[in-house]
Parts: sequence; C-alpha cells; structure tokens
Amino acid sequence: MLTIDRMKQALRDAQVGIEEQKDTLTDLDRAIGDGDHGINMSRGFDAVSSILDEDYDSLGAISKKVGMTLMSKVGGAAGPLYGSAFVKMATKFGDATEADFNLLIEALQEGSNSIKARGKSEVGQKTMVDVWDPFLEHVKQGNDYKQQLDELVQKTEDMVATKGRASYFGENSRGTVDPGALSSSILLAAIMKEVD
Ligand SMILES: [Mg+2]
Repeated sequence: MLTIDRMKQALRDAQVGIEEQKDTLTDLDRAIGDGDHGINMSRGFDAVSSILDEDYDSLGAISKKVGMTLMSKVGGAAGPLYGSAFVKMATKFGDATEADFNLLIEALQEGSNSIKARGKSEVGQKTMVDVWDPFLEHVKQGNDYKQQLDELVQKTEDMVATKGRASYFGENSRGTVDPGALSSSILLAAIMKEVD
C-alpha cells in the first residue's frame, strides 16, 4: 500500500536519486539539449523535499502540492511535464489516504497521459514518454519493474529524437540516452519501491 508517509519516502528517495545522477543528467542534456536538466531536476526535487514536512490529509493533496512545486521550480521543458503529471495523479488519488497497486498504476497512467498531451509526444520520439508509457504496460502485466526501467532508458540511446530540443540534433541525437527518460526512471523506481 502506498500511504502518504510512503509517498513522502518515495519523493525523498527520488531527490537522493536525482542528486546522485545530477552530473549524468547534465552531461546527457549537454550532448542533445541545453545542459540544464540535472540542475533543473535537482532544484525541483530540493523544493519538493522542503514541502514534505508539512501535513497532508490525502494522496491527492500531497500529489497536487508536488505538482505545483515541480511546475514552478524545475523549469525547462521538463518542469511543466512533471508538474502536470503529479497534478493529474492528484485528481485520480482524490481524497484517498492510501493506494493499492491498481490505484497507483491508474494514477501514474493519468500522469503519463498528461505528459503525452502536454508534450504532444508519443512513444518512439526519444523522450520521457518512452519510459512512462511502456513501463506502465509492463507492470500491468506483472513484470519486474526495475529491469524494465533500466531497459527502457537504455532503449532511448538508439532512438533519433523527433520531439523537443533534442530533435534539432537529428541523426546526431542517436547514441545518447534521453535525460528525461533517465530522470523519469529514477522517479518511477522510487515510487514503485513503496508499493512492493
Ligand atoms: Mg534542457
């Protein structure tokens, strides 16, 4: 069961994970973007960790606060995408104080749909969508999520970007893992660990 406390733990773990991968995220984004993804995500999750000491009466309330925080603090292309994902997850969680596996997956699917709608992106364009959408399909079928996440991130290396700033690099975007896919895998792993 994902409780409010376990959601807080997931977000603290995500912050640690982002911090550990901050330089990698920056290097990847420097190769096929503007090099700010590590810094942006680090700033965003620092801000998220500072709101976790507050009391929340539902998973919807905490998810909404996280979404608003990410939206205002992450910046770049990723901020509105991650922010809108959590805001949409909040509407699915509603007043619930805990979520079983199925409710969590439904909420994450809402988040994924929101990322696709906002980014006008689909699977195969070398974006974070290449982690979110196929990952949710895999876990719905009961597959091990850790291995799936790593494989999905790795798969973006061979893709050519057709969306976002990386698409300006065209064929040269091949050979670099998508930084948004990597940060998404860190976040999703931290959340999934709490419903294990
Ligand atoms: Mg960037």
